[in-house]
Parts: sequence; structure tokens; C-alpha cells
Amino acid sequence: MSAAAALAAIALCTFKPHTKKGEPCNEPASHRFRWDYGDEGHACPECIPLMQQAAKNIKRSVTFSRLEEGQQEPVTLHERTHLIAAKLSAEEELKQVTLRGQQLYQANVSLTQQVQTLVMQKREVDAELARTLQQRDETAERLSVRETELAEVIGERDRLQVLVPFVGKPTTPEERGLPSSTVDG
Ligand SMILES: [Zn+2]
Repeated sequence: MSAAAALAAIALCTFKPHTKKGEPCNEPASHRFRWDYGDEGHACPECIPLMQQAAKNIKRSVTFSRLEEGQQEPVTLHERTHLIAAKLSAEEELKQVTLRGQQLYQANVSLTQQVQTLVMQKREVDAELARTLQQRDETAERLSVRETELAEVIGERDRLQVLVPFVGKPTTPEERGLPSSTVDG
């Protein structure tokens, strides 16, 4: 059988099961069908019982005839080729979209991990900054205490220096900086 003949032998199911949201089933068909009101098409083995049930539900009748190899098909070779190409194209597109979805999912996982890492790093930096600020405050406080102590020591030194000249010899009240007993005009 040539490739074109093989392609011609492929009839796709044209039934639209409600589960496919108005899209034809598109599985390889085994039968032709014809409704009593004239609609015709191809049906696959899975769809035949669905159509029989549907016929019962709407109180119409549908007849099936098995497809024979080489039987005259209502769908032209060109139309079938187009349908198969469209199906392959849609499948390829679905593959690409699925792949893209997986890539986006991975990127999302990776970004989430990066965000978590950055959040943890920020917490560490914040804690380090808080420790540094506390150390600065403590250092400033110690410096303040030291400055007070230094001022006291300088004051003590100045008082002692005033007393040095008088150490070991008798002093007059004037020399000690005290008021004298005589008053000058
Ligand atoms: Zn089908």
C-alpha cells in the first residue's frame, strides 16, 4: 500500500462527545454513521455506544456501516491530509506548551528558593546590624563614663598641683589663696 493510499484509508471519528467540549473525537474510525435526519460521519468503536445511547435519549435512530478498505470516502484525501496535519500540529503545540509549562514551573521553584534564601540573608543582616548598633551604644556609654572619670582625675590633678608649692613649708593664708587678716584700701 502506498503512503497516499494508507493515508486515504485513515478515516477519523467525527462524533463530538460532550467530554471533548464540542471537538470531534478524531480517533481512527471503524464505521460510517447516518442519522435518520440525514447527518453522516465516521465513528470509532468507543463512540458507537455513546451515539446509540444519544439516539435513544433523543428518540431518533442512527445506523452504522462498517468501513471497508477502498470504500469511497465522503472526506477527500486533501481534507484528511489537512486534518491529520492539523492534528499533528496541535499535538506538537501541546508538547511545546507542556514543555514551556514545565520550564515555568521549574523557574518558579528556583525563584521561590532564591527569595527564601534572600529573606534568610536579610534576617541575618538585620540581626548583625542590631548587634552592631547595640555595640555602638554600649561603646558610647563606656566612652561617656571614661570621660566623666577623666574629668574627675583632671580636677583632682589640678587641685593637687595647687597644693604642691606648699608641701613641706609653712604657708601664709595669702599663699594658700585665703583672705589676709589685713585689708588693703
Ligand atoms: Zn470516536
